[in-house]
Amino acid sequence: MWRALRNCLATKANLASLHIPSSICPICEENPETIEHALLTCLWVMGVWFGSLLGFIGDRQHVTSLDCWMLSLTSLAGSSKDEVNRVVTIMSFLMWSIWKARYKAIFEQQLPNPGLVIQGAKESWTDFLNSAPTLGAVNRDVDKESEVVRSTLWQAPLTPYLKLNVDAAWFSNSGHTGIGIIIRNHHGEFKSGKVCWTTSMSVVDAEARAVIEGLSFAADQGYSHIWVESDSKPSSIAVWGKLPRGPGNSILHWDIPREANVVADAAAAIAIRGMGTEVWVDRPPSSLVHVLSRDGLPCPP
Ligand SMILES: [Zn+2]
Repeated sequence: MWRALRNCLATKANLASLHIPSSICPICEENPETIEHALLTCLWVMGVWFGSLLGFIGDRQHVTSLDCWMLSLTSLAGSSKDEVNRVVTIMSFLMWSIWKARYKAIFEQQLPNPGLVIQGAKESWTDFLNSAPTLGAVNRDVDKESEVVRSTLWQAPLTPYLKLNVDAAWFSNSGHTGIGIIIRNHHGEFKSGKVCWTTSMSVVDAEARAVIEGLSFAADQGYSHIWVESDSKPSSIAVWGKLPRGPGNSILHWDIPREANVVADAAAAIAIRGMGTEVWVDRPPSSLVHVLSRDGLPCPP
């Protein structure tokens, strides 16, 4: 953390100042790899912050420097010293885990997986806090059951994001693939959805197609801020080589638990039954109303 806050980590942007060419982030290949980009705003890193206990929605426009960012978050956490300690502990271990995952991505060609990064960070801070008995109280706070609930239930996105859940059902004998796409707002209300079918060569191919289809549907609907959730494995990312581009400001969160993706799963099943394309706007089909309400959130009558 000291090296990160003093801006003396070997990011591409820092290496460029030593006349080593290319400052571009080798993972997303989109922006210069500054400390802030590497630890806060690289696309998959935003997935780590959102999926963590802290649940931050990244905002590239408003990140200034790492020290200002940390300072603003610790003051947001309230005046309690324990709460500030808790947030700083989680943030520090997440950043360490992100940095190590970046290393593996660049030098060992292992695609970063936000879920594993969060898990690795949690194991590290648990070890750390258990080795320091006086910090045990902080650890008990961190370890609350709420984390389990957070990671397995569908959650409404924060405004201005809409959440796009996608899923694919794939038949190995024919290659037929049903794709289900559901978009909901920050109140959990149904905005629009689509089912369609295509053919794919593998389950990984099918899952990748579902994400791409979902992003292009969201673009067609004119949505600009999209949070994509898919329960596909990180291996699907390999199909694309790099993350697909969505409308305006899209963030991809893959490998979510199936329980958090039941509606898209049910929609994919509709696609398989119907073998045709259907689009719903504002009102979900009656066959999905029951599944939508199981997420504990309202949907139009
Ligand atoms: Zn990047």
